[in-house]
Formats: sequence, C-alpha cells, structure tokens
Amino acid sequence: MGNKNLHCQRVVPFWLLLLDNLPTVSMFFLGTAILIRVTLWLGIGYLFYAGFAIAWFWAHICPHCHHFATFGCPCGYGHISSLFFKKKNGTNFRRIFRKNIVVLFPCWFIPPVVTIYVLLQQFDRALFVLMILFSITAFLLVPYVSKFVGCKNCASRSNCPWINKEKK
Ligand code: SF4
Repeated sequence: MGNKNLHCQRVVPFWLLLLDNLPTVSMFFLGTAILIRVTLWLGIGYLFYAGFAIAWFWAHICPHCHHFATFGCPCGYGHISSLFFKKKNGTNFRRIFRKNIVVLFPCWFIPPVVTIYVLLQQFDRALFVLMILFSITAFLLVPYVSKFVGCKNCASRSNCPWINKEKK
C-alpha cells in the first residue's frame, strides 16, 4: 500500500467515499450512453478518455496533495494514487492543480456539445432526456456533492483551487 500517512487530521468514512464518487461515475455513464446513441465508437472513446483523465488526475495532481496516501482524501483518489505513484514534495499544489485539471474538462463538455449538434439536425427525445440527466448530474450534483459534502470539513479547503476558484 506504499507510504501511508496515517496521521492525517481526519478519516473519511466509506459511505462518504461512495457518495462523493457516485455523481462522477453516473456522469461518465450518462455521457457514454449519450455518445453511444450517436455513434458506438464515440461512446466507447468517451469512456476510455474518462478513464484516462482520472488516471491523469491520480498521476499528476494527487501526489502533490496534502491528502495523498492518507484517509483524509474526500473521494479516495489519494489512496488509489498512492498505490501507483510516489508523493511529490515541495511543489505548489494550486499551480499543479490548475495546470492539470483541464484534462478532465472534455468529460463535462463533449456530451453536451455533441448532443446540441445532433439535436439541431434532428430532434431525438431519448437523447434530449439523457442530456437533461447528464446536465443535472455534471453541472449540479458533481460540484454540489464535492463542495458541500466531500470537501466540507477538509483542512486543506483554504488552499484548494477547486473550492476557492477566485484565488490566484
Ligand atoms: S483531495 Fe483531491 S487531489 Fe488530494 S488526494 Fe484527494 S483527490 Fe487527490
């Protein structure tokens, strides 16, 4: 399990890890369902890209984080990352986060862009419903759960660029 820092300030319970991950996983599957409805290979490509983006997050963001290899990570990524990567010390977490988080952005924006393009050509009720579900999940549930549940009591909150978007 690598170099665990068990002296972190809190232990995130398992139910909270599940709650924190459920909206993101749901978003990936809804995005895949949307794109499969358009073209099978687009859906499969999206799912692979989502996996790649999460692995990128584990490799390039988590090792720089205060919660790496602790039980304090609100979504459990810090644990998973520590199974594969080594901790990086002395780096600016805010700068690293901002530089690498863009890899995840296509997971949020490819399904809506493709859906709008397809719906402008021809209305598809199932695609429209999937798009509504995707939008609620991706743009409301994911940020709400991470900010107000998973990250609510985090000691690194003041240093987190996800919570403090206005800070430079
Ligand atoms: S808090 Fe965020 S950056 Fe830190 S280990 Fe967890 S998922 Fe990674």
